[in-house]
Amino acid sequence: MAVSAWRIKDTTVEVVRGDLTLQDTDAIVNAANNKLAPGGGVSGAIHRAAGPSLWEECRTLNGCATGEAKITGGYNLKAKHVIHTVGPVYSGSKQDAVLLRQCYQNSLAVALSNGLESVAFPSISTGIFGYPVQEAAPVALQAVRDFIQDNPGLKLVRFVLFSEADYDVYRDAAAGLFAG
Ligand code: ADP
Repeated sequence: MAVSAWRIKDTTVEVVRGDLTLQDTDAIVNAANNKLAPGGGVSGAIHRAAGPSLWEECRTLNGCATGEAKITGGYNLKAKHVIHTVGPVYSGSKQDAVLLRQCYQNSLAVALSNGLESVAFPSISTGIFGYPVQEAAPVALQAVRDFIQDNPGLKLVRFVLFSEADYDVYRDAAAGLFAG
């Protein structure tokens, strides 16, 4: 399996190629929609793997605003929790990166406030929401790095990329950002 890893303070940051739904981290992050409904893409895959109880819990949460994050149980997943965050639909404006950064940082804040130590992310917004992965990867990686530098307590943050092309983009961006 393709894995690259860096150390930022006391946290390991990994970039791996794989399936988010199979991760055994304390939480996996769902690239959700505002209704927290199953939908397609990685969200559909998470709901299928978790089972119908995940939607039963999600429907009690009154949705989620773009850039914010909410936690549920993980049900049939290996991960005990799912952190649902809603990425921006790509518009080409500067606000895209602001909202995408909030997704990563609010997800990690929710993890920490629930006592979790390991979190796995997909590439938020770069599927159905149309954010070019070359633009999204450095925003995602910088958001996580900045959060870790300011907030101790996480042991592992893992980016899980489904395609080899996306893995290469995240690995190269991380190598550039995290070197030295
Ligand atoms: P969004 O609506 O935020 O764009 P998508 O689910 O459409 O979210 O896509 C986000 C990314 O998740 C895409 O790169 C897609 O290829 C990827 N993806 C889809 N299924 C999985 C999975 N099982 N594990 C990891 N990544 C996945």
